Amino acid sequence: MLLLKNCYLIASFDKADSEFCDSDILIEGNKIAKIGADLQASGAEVIDCSGCVAIPGMVNCHHHFFQILTRNLPGAQDAKLFDWLRYLYPIWARLDAEAILSSTMLATAELLKTGCTLSSDHSYLYPRGFEGDIMELQFEAARVTGIRFCPTRGSMTLGESDGGLPPDTVVQDTAEVLADMARVIDRFHNPEPLSLRRVALAPCSPFSVDPELMIETARLAREKSVVLHTHLAETLDEEEFCRGKYGKRPLELMADWGWIGRDVYFAHGIYFTGEELELLAQTGTGICHCPSSNMRLGSGIARVREMLDRRVRVGLGVDGSASNDSSDMLGEVRNALLLQRVRYGSTAMTAREALSIAIRGGTDLLGYPELGSIEAGKGADIAVFDVSNIGHAGGLADPLASLVFAGFDHTAKFTIVGGEVVVREGRLCRIDEAELIARANTASARLLH
Ligand SMILES: [Zn+2]
Repeated sequence: MLLLKNCYLIASFDKADSEFCDSDILIEGNKIAKIGADLQASGAEVIDCSGCVAIPGMVNCHHHFFQILTRNLPGAQDAKLFDWLRYLYPIWARLDAEAILSSTMLATAELLKTGCTLSSDHSYLYPRGFEGDIMELQFEAARVTGIRFCPTRGSMTLGESDGGLPPDTVVQDTAEVLADMARVIDRFHNPEPLSLRRVALAPCSPFSVDPELMIETARLAREKSVVLHTHLAETLDEEEFCRGKYGKRPLELMADWGWIGRDVYFAHGIYFTGEELELLAQTGTGICHCPSSNMRLGSGIARVREMLDRRVRVGLGVDGSASNDSSDMLGEVRNALLLQRVRYGSTAMTAREALSIAIRGGTDLLGYPELGSIEAGKGADIAVFDVSNIGHAGGLADPLASLVFAGFDHTAKFTIVGGEVVVREGRLCRIDEAELIARANTASARLLH
């Protein structure tokens, strides 16, 4: 049992958006048992949360963990998407097992430390001759740091010689990908509520996979009841590619290939027409908004305000670390709010809306109804942020919004996943941070030289 005592504020993100001052949260096993003032529980570990705001753990719906070893690379700091990819593909082609392990540990460490408790990962790069099982390595690394993990089996099959963007050395055969997708679902996917391991399917993008793979992936995902994910409508270059190769707009292609519905969500979704937004809304097809990446690559501004008004399902993603270049989950929430205001003005998005996208939006897209709020019976995934420091002083008239508007340090004081404290006093509990940093820097240097 775990008792989070004297929280300055608990923002439950339940249906009524209840917020509780000076209250406690009792956790039994991997679930929340009770919320209230002056709770007592003999035998429980008591954690002092005075001066802190507790929120449900945030959800990262889009990332490419392996890219963390090539973040901030001088040759890719100022390029737009297609040029940026062309520069990086040959470097990523050298990924090995240690790079997958250390990058997954590093990315999940950063996410956990900034209040994310559940993350997806879009691992789409399978270099020719790679030794080892990438998804097994990733699950092993996620077990070490303690995050709840739903990686997607990504893929690229359309190499340069077939008119695609990636070099042939990093693409796979369609039949090989399909067989491995079925294998990883059977081996790793646990659909039970509150499971720590799930799998989704995610061919990379319209410009790096073939139509047969898209169609067959959708068929397989529905047979196995797993979520579908890919990049879509990220840039005008992509739109041009789709018109040139297929004579259709990106979303039209998705509709043709069966990629529409409540079990599908797309990363980015910047270049949609009004009718396309309406189609997304009517079919329950989701969007993972990635504001930092979109700004970093100069891709554009997704019309999130209009999506929310039309009731399109929206979640949040930090995106790969070579285009952010940080897995700062709380920072992503702030950027989501600010970027919508650049496009639509000061009323475009409230702090609570931005947090809600990162919390409830994410559990909805990834399909975890048992998470996403601090309520009795829900999974005990909670992030606790200290607002008693310099960065929040003078801003406590609204402590929850202060997480988004104020504060220069986004490190959670405590992060709890499935009832276990995995970040304590801002430090990872299960892994030595200095060792992880050294290991990741070594792996990064090896990749670059
Ligand atoms: Zn991406």
